[in-house]
Amino acid sequence: MNIDLDLLAYLAGKGVRHLEASVAGTSYLPRTVRGVGLFLLDRDGNLGVLTAKQQVTYEKFLKPLLFDVPCRGETGPESCRGNGLIEPDLLLQGFREDDLRCRECRTARVELNTKKEG
Ligand SMILES: [Zn+2]
Repeated sequence: MNIDLDLLAYLAGKGVRHLEASVAGTSYLPRTVRGVGLFLLDRDGNLGVLTAKQQVTYEKFLKPLLFDVPCRGETGPESCRGNGLIEPDLLLQGFREDDLRCRECRTARVELNTKKEG
């Protein structure tokens, strides 16, 4: 699995609030997680350069945001119309817009709005 470097750059930069949210309530500091993200960016996402400690931080906080983001559906994860996960190509857009939903759910919303307007 290759890391989406654009997505990682966003999470370690403008979208750092998403990192902060995932770190909240743990003993980790957002800047630690962000640091690992920036380190990875400098090395083109090459996980092989991480120390054991960085690897743990990556697995715990960065990997779930890069590869494994649950769809929030219309009213919560249980209302997802897809397979429950957001497609990789929609993640960056989803984080940017704070609209974490999969393609199925996004399409359903658009159709709903079109009907209302028509
Ligand atoms: Zn969904």
